[in-house]
Amino acid sequence: MMLVSTLLLVSPLQAVAFVPLLLATTNRLPYSPGFSTQIFQSKDPKHVVVVGGGWAGFSAADALAKHVNVTLLDASPGGKGGLASGWRTSRGRPVEAGIHGFWREYKNTFSVLERLGLDADKILSPFSPSILHSKNGQVAVAPVLKNDNQTTEELTPILSSLALASLLQSALSPSNSMKPPNVLQPVAALLPAPLDLAILAKYNSGNPLTLADRASALGLLGIWADFGQEDDVSWQRYDAISAEDLFLKKAGISNVLYDEVVNPLLHVLPMCPGYDCSAAAALSCFHVFALQSQGAFDVRWCRASIAESIFKPWENRLIDSGVRIQGDCKVASICQNEDRNGLQIRIENDSNEALACDAVVMAIGGVAMGRLGPASPAFENISITSDFPKNRGVTCVAVRMFLKPHTVVTCGLAGGQYDATLLPSDVAEAMKESPVVVCGAEIGNIPELKETGFCIYDLQRLHDEFAVENQRESAVLEVDFFRADDIADIQDDEQVAKLALQAVAATFKTVPISSNNIIDVAVVRARNAVSHFATKSASYSPPVRLSKERGIYMAGDWIDRSGHASWSTEKAVVTGRQSAQAVLEDFGLLSQSRQVSVIPAAPDTPALEALRRGAQILRSLVPPPGDGVPQSPWNFLESVVENGLAPR
Ligand SMILES: Cc1cc2nc3c(=O)[nH]c(=O)nc-3n(C[C@H](O)[C@H](O)[C@H](O)COP(=O)(O)OP(=O)(O)OC[C@H]3O[C@@H](n4cnc5c(N)ncnc54)[C@H](O)[C@@H]3O)c2cc1C
Repeated sequence: MMLVSTLLLVSPLQAVAFVPLLLATTNRLPYSPGFSTQIFQSKDPKHVVVVGGGWAGFSAADALAKHVNVTLLDASPGGKGGLASGWRTSRGRPVEAGIHGFWREYKNTFSVLERLGLDADKILSPFSPSILHSKNGQVAVAPVLKNDNQTTEELTPILSSLALASLLQSALSPSNSMKPPNVLQPVAALLPAPLDLAILAKYNSGNPLTLADRASALGLLGIWADFGQEDDVSWQRYDAISAEDLFLKKAGISNVLYDEVVNPLLHVLPMCPGYDCSAAAALSCFHVFALQSQGAFDVRWCRASIAESIFKPWENRLIDSGVRIQGDCKVASICQNEDRNGLQIRIENDSNEALACDAVVMAIGGVAMGRLGPASPAFENISITSDFPKNRGVTCVAVRMFLKPHTVVTCGLAGGQYDATLLPSDVAEAMKESPVVVCGAEIGNIPELKETGFCIYDLQRLHDEFAVENQRESAVLEVDFFRADDIADIQDDEQVAKLALQAVAATFKTVPISSNNIIDVAVVRARNAVSHFATKSASYSPPVRLSKERGIYMAGDWIDRSGHASWSTEKAVVTGRQSAQAVLEDFGLLSQSRQVSVIPAAPDTPALEALRRGAQILRSLVPPPGDGVPQSPWNFLESVVENGLAPR
């Protein structure tokens, strides 16, 4: 059966076409600019409308609910989850808009789970390794870096200088795939990120990366130290150039290292190729996902759909605290009341209803804001909003395939919640070190994958419901494609599934799984759904408090890029809470003891702190010429050797 949504999604999960609905609630009024009404009497009389029901909107509504009356509107029918939403097919199979990871530094997200009374160890897998593939084959296995039970202090005594020397020697050997990880672990535990990752990653021996290629990564250290994650000026400077120029021309990393490691990671983290990605975004993304602290690269996965295991209980909690959640409510425009006191939110449906409120938190994503901003008189003359239409989105296609089970169960597989699978044994073998495989673009010379990265998940090793011990009806393979406009254009789900199976076979160099083995498939096409952090995009990113006077606040993963060092889900949760804090502050409803707390990002490690200090001194002594982004010394030397003293 071919199912689900040819979701021509203009924004995240307007998952099904918007069905105009007359919702018989007291607070829906015929649209009339200037018409103001007071709806709620129960709490503090202020009424805040949160537009957008993803991580950002839920987070804002949650933090506001105790203090004021809150209505949460979302364009999609369910009204919850945003890009993390999901549903069940007519046959009861769970489907999601892609699989989402939870990185170790997602501290504010984990605290949402805690507040909901959810046990993270019951709903998430353990931290898992990931396998990285480039167009040339498997590059490396990134191990789980931090053992929660060991501290650095405990490890120190076991290191003799002799052991350190011999271990470093083995770490720097051209292929360290033979290193016993239990021996290297203590050394890596003493090294700052990313050197721990560089030592512990298990490189594939057939990969073209040489020792010199890996060493060329050192050219990045100065730039990483020079980039101020939470500094506006630094963001502007690095946002103006592309990630490709940064890594190749400024840092001087080798082409092979760029092709094998950097570019594949760009294709799956910010989900775009280096030439179309802001250098600031790339540095910030790598900082957050890999470099900021030991173990930052460690990631865990939900053991069921996020919609069911997190958003459902979250929705219940919001409803219990008085939040009105309304799906099928696409907001078409926002205007100020004539007396400039309060706002009218116009909802696109048959009767053009409107909702009156004192403030609004916009949590709908950059592309949707690009449409709503110009249509909304309330945004007029707020200078940054004229740039909103420049926001771009990345199209994702999530393909979940239920496959005829292989005759033999493959057991003893590493890295997931479960160790067995019903996938064909050659595919199982290719994924034996992790159920998660991260792939760059151009794999298998498949035309649709020219600029498309993807992830392959063996969901039987991650999801409770699919585990071999719970069902043997099917193997479950998910392939999520990023920057996948060409694939989203393929109308026929069966064709998309065939392409996904072709991509899997090309990645692992295994026999293609026949499409006759597909029992069921769900394809979710999320067009322009994910924030695209293209060059200069940070300059269109607004702060959380857009206008105190008009009562307009913003939340989402594209908001306040130079603020809290976080990304994606975590950034959405953080800015949701920050927007709530700003609203309540402006309403005068917060006291010192009743702030909306945000857990700060990890502080710089001592090593990074020292590097940053050095970079600042250097910048003050010798300011980098031109665009202000420094060149790594060896890139400069290489350029002198190649070109004499003419600048490169
Ligand atoms: C395939 C895929 C894989 C991903 N993997 C990860 C991952 O591993 N880890 C991670 O952290 N992040 C991941 N992300 C990104 C993550 O999903 C987003 O960063 C996050 O969902 C952003 O949350 P948000 O609340 O800001 O916006 P969204 O989730 O986009 O929610 C916005 C909401 O606004 C609604 N809306 C839009 N326009 C209107 C309107 N006019 N009126 C009313 N409502 C409107 C939409 O229906 C939507 O529900 C992934 C995304 C995709 C698509």
